[in-house]
Amino acid sequence: MPAIQTETQYVSSIGMEVHAELLTESKMFCGCRNAFGGEPNTRCCPVCLGLPGSLPVANRLAVELVIRAALALHCSISPIAEFDRKNYFYPDLPKGYQISQYDQPIGSGGWLDIETEAGPRRVHIRRVHLEEDTGKLMHLPTGDSAVDYNRSGVPLMEIVTEFPPDMGSADEARAYLVKLRAILTCIGVSDGKMEQGSLRCEPNISVRPTGASAFGTKTEIKNLNSFRAVHRGVQHELTRQVALLRRGERVAQETRGWNEARGETVLQRVKEVEQEYRYFPEPDLLPLHIDDAWVASIRAGLPELPDAARLRLVDQYGVSAAEADLLTQTAAWTAYFERAAGLCGNARATANWMMGELARLLNAANLEIDQCKAGPEALAELLAMVESGKISGKMAKGVWEAAFETGEAPAAIAARQGEQISDAGALGAVLNSVIAAQPDVWQALCAGDEKKLTFMVGQIMKQTRGKANPGEVNRLLRERMAGGAQ
Ligand code: ADP
Ligand code: MG
Ligand code: ZN
Repeated sequence: MPAIQTETQYVSSIGMEVHAELLTESKMFCGCRNAFGGEPNTRCCPVCLGLPGSLPVANRLAVELVIRAALALHCSISPIAEFDRKNYFYPDLPKGYQISQYDQPIGSGGWLDIETEAGPRRVHIRRVHLEEDTGKLMHLPTGDSAVDYNRSGVPLMEIVTEFPPDMGSADEARAYLVKLRAILTCIGVSDGKMEQGSLRCEPNISVRPTGASAFGTKTEIKNLNSFRAVHRGVQHELTRQVALLRRGERVAQETRGWNEARGETVLQRVKEVEQEYRYFPEPDLLPLHIDDAWVASIRAGLPELPDAARLRLVDQYGVSAAEADLLTQTAAWTAYFERAAGLCGNARATANWMMGELARLLNAANLEIDQCKAGPEALAELLAMVESGKISGKMAKGVWEAAFETGEAPAAIAARQGEQISDAGALGAVLNSVIAAQPDVWQALCAGDEKKLTFMVGQIMKQTRGKANPGEVNRLLRERMAGGAQ
């Protein structure tokens, strides 16, 4: 009997470091404006350019937003939090160090829950801390490199998951990020715009043979700017590491980049170790004293969080769990849904339409829901017209597209396009002319060839330019068929 070949199986571990730029008016340690983009190097001053002699002053709102996020993530808040210098050289870091937090982060020991194939899973969070963003390097078509310091000193929050890692697949890594983004946008701490880099994610990934107690060497992927890239990047890295180990090779501890076009991770640099950053307390800033009263008032100001909103939507509106997930993906989605459902009184139709037509158009136009010209009032108006039979579902799509495009009220668009024809007399006349034009098809239909029914309905729709009420057309056709061919 041939020997049975058993291939070693592997367990995957994934930890996440997420950076979120905070929604403050000004930067972390100076009064320069905190906003995306802008003419390069127009939002800078001696502090955020790191000029000698300048002194930082901590932004109180930034500290408050990090406390807010840490509380929403069930962290304990440190009564004293310190700023530290993380030293390294890079052209986008003009001071030669980044002000960050090392051993006294603002928040620690938190968690959030995700849904997995095997049921709900708690992902533990080790720390939530505050630091400053770097400038941005740009590689110009001329071959030169340039640097824009507008982003230098923007308040940045870092959220790191606990070790040993709770996540074990690309699906879970994505689910974690989706949930984290929902929480951060819901509490108004981050705009969550991954494509603009205001929310950035770095997964740490390792594999080890099933049963082994020691964790495998990890790699870290940088520059993932969408949920899709996170999922693909993690999946690719897990596969790459298992293949290496199966060939008897070793995984090197390194930082890898993500090549979206080729769908693979590529070596960026061999990982620094912590000592190389020579952390030490920032001498220009006093430690932060975070008293209980401040924490209590921030906690009291937290809105309903996505998990609670999700349960409430299922309970209050009868939407499915999957629908509720999507409807609570950001606070703006929840607000849109509740307003539209409240106005039109049909929550199921609202959920359906938002997940179908609205999501489709937003995706195609690459817009966020709060940038959409057709607001919840417009959707409610549209759905009410469908429900009362004023317009067909088919017409509603066209009306909605126009409303989405222009922001015009659906009722006005529908009135211009003409309302649905349900009148039996008018439809009967159209039917007569279609039968006269297609006598063979009509004979076949009356002889029992049911497939011809769709064709006849199609002809009537065509003649009425989509305005015929399809239910009424079907009813009329069947009535005539019962009467036999004429
Ligand atoms: P670094 O200093 O290299 O950034 P950290 O110790 O801060 O590493 O960990 C960063 C993240 O990586 C954390 O979420 C942690 O849980 C995770 N992590 C650490 N070791 C491993 C490993 N062997 N496999 C997977 N994830 C890991
Ligand atoms: Mg790291
Ligand atoms: Zn500045």
